[in-house]
Amino acid sequence: MAETTIEWTATPGSDGTMHQGFTLNPWIGCERVDAMCDLCYADVGSRRLAAQHHLKLWDEGSSRYQTKDPWGKLVTWNRRAEKLGVRLKVFCASYSDWAEDRPELVAPRQRLFDTIVDTPWLDLLLLTKRPQNINRLVEATKHVDVLTQNVWLGTSVGTKPSLERAVQLVRSHESVHKFLSMEPLLDPTFDLDPLVCQHCWGLEWQVGDDDATPFCPECETEMVSGAILDPLNGGIDWLIIGGESGGSKEKFARPLHLAAARQVMAQAKEAGVPVFFKQMGRRIIGDSEGFEVNHWLIGDGVDPLDWKLEWVPPWLGPNAGKKPENAIGFTLFDGHGGDPADWAPEFRVREYPEAVVP
Ligand code: SF4
Repeated sequence: MAETTIEWTATPGSDGTMHQGFTLNPWIGCERVDAMCDLCYADVGSRRLAAQHHLKLWDEGSSRYQTKDPWGKLVTWNRRAEKLGVRLKVFCASYSDWAEDRPELVAPRQRLFDTIVDTPWLDLLLLTKRPQNINRLVEATKHVDVLTQNVWLGTSVGTKPSLERAVQLVRSHESVHKFLSMEPLLDPTFDLDPLVCQHCWGLEWQVGDDDATPFCPECETEMVSGAILDPLNGGIDWLIIGGESGGSKEKFARPLHLAAARQVMAQAKEAGVPVFFKQMGRRIIGDSEGFEVNHWLIGDGVDPLDWKLEWVPPWLGPNAGKKPENAIGFTLFDGHGGDPADWAPEFRVREYPEAVVP
């Protein structure tokens, strides 16, 4: 737990200086929720700690490791922010999920919220894949009010089924900002502005007899668009987008489809929602125009295990003018695809929501 290199936790100062943010992990360990967790870096990154303490920290039958004095760190960072006169961001958590509902997490979560109240110069970015628990767990701490003072609530969305989480986040208590981490963005086609039933908030719909009126099969209410990306009405007001990195020879990082990223960015722009494009990830599917290509991805199926890589010697220049006919995508020089200098200009977007000073 310390100053972090995660770019989206930085805070731009009024003179243009970027102030680095922090990560806070009051406890370590988690259970996978869905396919977005397949390559959970925290599971891999905590194996040494787990072995040292003879613990199983991930998935079924696991326990949670409580870290030493995370609360003191928050107080120290708060002092630093106050001295700088700049609100600093704290990402909680990178090695667990703050809204995991387990009996042994009740006390540390209470302490987390008690400390958030006492550290008003910090903005706590609380990210979860369990947004359905947010309201109940925050109410249990008796600190609902702090959400609109220095908490930004976020959830992770990257597949069609996970879009349900965006709806749950919109339905959560208000907070200073609500954000989506679309990292990894896995779906090849993604619609962040689906039809939503504003009565029961369902995403499934049917078309009426006149073929024009989509209605909710649950409550027969007319479905509407614009409910998720609606910053003025408690909707999402910040998007973080990224492809998947990490992986191994057996489990490859899944690709980012540029078409999906473009679609999401266009929808955010239309709704006036700022976008932070974090990284392209290890593999990219789509047109390489404007990218600094390191390898071509050769393959014809959807299984990344079948794909082959063809190196592009850098002295030939970007794209090398020799794109193989059967190339379906490409990779970049940085293993995470995290260097914006390698990206086509349209993706070099790193925006933050407007600062709110409670
Ligand atoms: S919710 Fe987050 S920390 Fe938990 S398993 Fe999934 S990716 Fe890992």
